[in-house]
Amino acid sequence: MKSKIIIIGSGFSSLSASCYLAKAGNDVTIFEKNSTIGGRARQLIKDGFTFDMGPSWYWMPDIFDNFFADFNKKTSDYYQLDKLNPAYKIFFDDDTITIGDCMDKICAEFERIEKGSAVHLKKFIAEAQENYDIAINKIVLRPGLSPTELITPETIKKVDQFFKTISSQVRKKFKNSKLISTLEFPVLFLGAKPSNTPSFYNFMNFADFGLGTWHPKGGMYEIIKAMKSLAIELGVTIKTDSPVEKIIVENDTVKGINSNGKLFRADVVLSGADYHHSETLLEKEYRQYSESYWDKKTFAPSSLLFYIAFDKKIKNIEHHNLFFDTDFELHANEIYDNPKWPKDPLFYVNFPSVTDESMAPEGCETGFFLVPIATNLVDSNEIREHYFNLIMNRFQKQTKQNILDSIIFKESFCVRDFKKEYNSYKGNAYGLANTLTQTAFLRPNLKSKKVENLYFTGQLTVPGPGVPPALLSGKIVSQLINAKQ
Ligand SMILES: Cc1cc2nc3c(=O)[nH]c(=O)nc-3n(C[C@H](O)[C@H](O)[C@H](O)COP(=O)(O)OP(=O)(O)OC[C@H]3O[C@@H](n4cnc5c(N)ncnc54)[C@H](O)[C@@H]3O)c2cc1C
Repeated sequence: MKSKIIIIGSGFSSLSASCYLAKAGNDVTIFEKNSTIGGRARQLIKDGFTFDMGPSWYWMPDIFDNFFADFNKKTSDYYQLDKLNPAYKIFFDDDTITIGDCMDKICAEFERIEKGSAVHLKKFIAEAQENYDIAINKIVLRPGLSPTELITPETIKKVDQFFKTISSQVRKKFKNSKLISTLEFPVLFLGAKPSNTPSFYNFMNFADFGLGTWHPKGGMYEIIKAMKSLAIELGVTIKTDSPVEKIIVENDTVKGINSNGKLFRADVVLSGADYHHSETLLEKEYRQYSESYWDKKTFAPSSLLFYIAFDKKIKNIEHHNLFFDTDFELHANEIYDNPKWPKDPLFYVNFPSVTDESMAPEGCETGFFLVPIATNLVDSNEIREHYFNLIMNRFQKQTKQNILDSIIFKESFCVRDFKKEYNSYKGNAYGLANTLTQTAFLRPNLKSKKVENLYFTGQLTVPGPGVPPALLSGKIVSQLINAKQ
């Protein structure tokens, strides 16, 4: 039977769910609080410069392909995808490592740094590929309802990998600290420290070296535009400037929402807003998780971001650049163990206009600077400026040029903006981290245990942080909803 379904939020997970639910014949309406859609993946366009405000790494192209294939479409029906070569460059204090677009190039770079490491790397990536196949094709689409979902003939054989960490595994095979940092980098996308992430998650290393880094021409927002077109084609209604103020429950069953002071009735409500915030839209008796539950969880970091327009081309950089020229352990400690503003943080810089001329006016560069920080830090203009100067100095030194004189404008975004713009819990950027105790059935549920016909999706639930998981989260929750209708 056709149900009336309201979705809160228009991030990747909500857009994904909207497409699957509309395809199954439901009447779907999205309510987004902001004036534009896309959630953390929104876009800033100013004076001819285009910035992706959130995600910039297009990894796991198979998951995007599979999403569009579910609707008999291809990514190329909507956007042009290019494989980046090099994929990215890492700056260390006394050297740089450049990651090419294939294993041969990457092995050569590893050999340059540590003789004999290419053989270990090939073995490591072959094992990571096996784990990728198990994770993506056998486990990730399960709804996280029970521990048995993780038990497959393949995972039984690899059970030790759930109890060892990626950090110890990498250190067993590689001695050079730069190679160790390079191989620990991909699991940072899962939101936790490599020393707190099971080694099974080395499938992220296959995503990195095996599947490569891609770029949709025009930027990551092209994916949001593609999903919007598909959703509209399937009959989804999208309402912007429509904050949901309350989720209405009668007799333990969801009945609709209030938005802009008006009641909208529905048979099913699905929230893709941050899970903690979504539960605050309910009366207390209907919330499943207490404040102390959320407070004890390991959240992925927040970020201090700068969107900067430059009036010249920047030298010695690539599309993606990691500045690992300071102490990673100390920075990780300042994010997770002893949360405070970091002394000398690692940072990431994205210059999409290096490979995509549509992102900046001719002869100019679009720059996105990201400093990972602990959640809930005190965020002031003075602090932002301190870190701006700090990373600019490091950037200029490492890349051997002056860029401060070439800034046309800069915008910043940090903890208080994450809270205000996205109702983000503690100002987290990437949701709830994927650690051993926060995996699969141990994450907040997709389906409310207290309110009938109320569901959740997105980076605080199953499967976890990142754009590909958000697409999958929307698919998994729609399967639960469609199965019940
Ligand atoms: C700076 C940054 C960099 C990142 N980099 C990458 C990357 O390179 N690659 C990658 O794969 N992932 C990356 N991520 C993670 C990725 O962007 C997210 O995991 C993903 O976009 C989350 O999608 P979502 O649907 O779960 O939530 P969101 O995008 O947060 O969507 C939630 C939506 O709900 C709306 N909302 C909230 N409250 C209400 C309300 N009361 N009423 C109505 N609407 C409401 C919000 O406005 C928002 O639009 C990055 C994230 C950030 C912030």
